[in-house]
Amino acid sequence: ATMPPLLSAIANAGRHGVLVKSAVVMERLAQVDAVALDKTGTLTEGTPRVTEIRPLPGSGLGEDELLALSAAAEHPSEHPLARAVVAAARERRLALHGAECFSSAPGVGVTATVQGARITVGAPARTPAADTESLALAAELEEDGRTAVLVVRDGTPVGALGIADRPRPDAAATVAVLTSLTGTAPTLLTGDNPRAAARLAADIGIGDVRAGLLPQDKVTAVRELEAAGRRVLVVGDGVNDAPALAAAHTGVAMGRAGSDLALETADAVIVRDELTTVPRVIGLARAARRLVV
Ligand code: ADP
Ligand code: MG
Repeated sequence: ATMPPLLSAIANAGRHGVLVKSAVVMERLAQVDAVALDKTGTLTEGTPRVTEIRPLPGSGLGEDELLALSAAAEHPSEHPLARAVVAAARERRLALHGAECFSSAPGVGVTATVQGARITVGAPARTPAADTESLALAAELEEDGRTAVLVVRDGTPVGALGIADRPRPDAAATVAVLTSLTGTAPTLLTGDNPRAAARLAADIGIGDVRAGLLPQDKVTAVRELEAAGRRVLVVGDGVNDAPALAAAHTGVAMGRAGSDLALETADAVIVRDELTTVPRVIGLARAARRLVV
């Protein structure tokens, strides 16, 4: 027997590096007419690097001490920023202290007890202990397009790290193809700061930028687009993207470095680590629909 069009489209998508979980998903992909993309790990390579280590003068910490504390607290986290901090500490051959009572909040940051002190590392705008001096330091890093994270020890800001991530080489081309395929420019949804988000968006041709979003804010943004009559494809990789992946008409997760939760929640998973597979699978789905009808 010849394979039904939707099934052979699924097989075809697989050959192009996208795992589509069902025939229903294939049909939904054909209906998509707007795309919302996550930033970190989706439009960027997801292998960020620590580029600045800035202890606050009053902290009494040196660069290595600030980095070692941060890396200890970040060690249990699977977030790309956490991996960058740990990698930077390893590069400097710093001893990694043990961490206890670790917890993480998606879109916010991490907290852990390191050498008897409560350490938090996270988004400046979501750090209650941030004061004028530490926010100014973070803003300075963000002006350069960095993601800044603030480090707090026992309720007092002790420094900030600047972290840089490159756009994926195929990000700009993918944005252009998605724009012509759907008739609308894609939207950027990110938990990162507005300055870093705007910088990346300008580099790759995205005009609609929504930054500083918590996971639930990403859901709200998707619902707004869908209330305007759009069928939205969300592309994301993180635990912070899972609610939006679930809420959207269709959700696609980046497979290589994506979190387990994102992979399980999404309707399809990009196995070959290329963004161009996103427009390609929409094209395959539309072609299959023409055969089914
Ligand atoms: P995106 O939406 O761009 O993928 P996230 O929602 O995962 O970004 O993160 C948003 C912000 O929350 C980050 O820019 C960072 O400031 C903070 N954050 C999240 N996870 C961590 C972490 N493990 N360590 C430090 N900061 C974090
Ligand atoms: Mg992400």
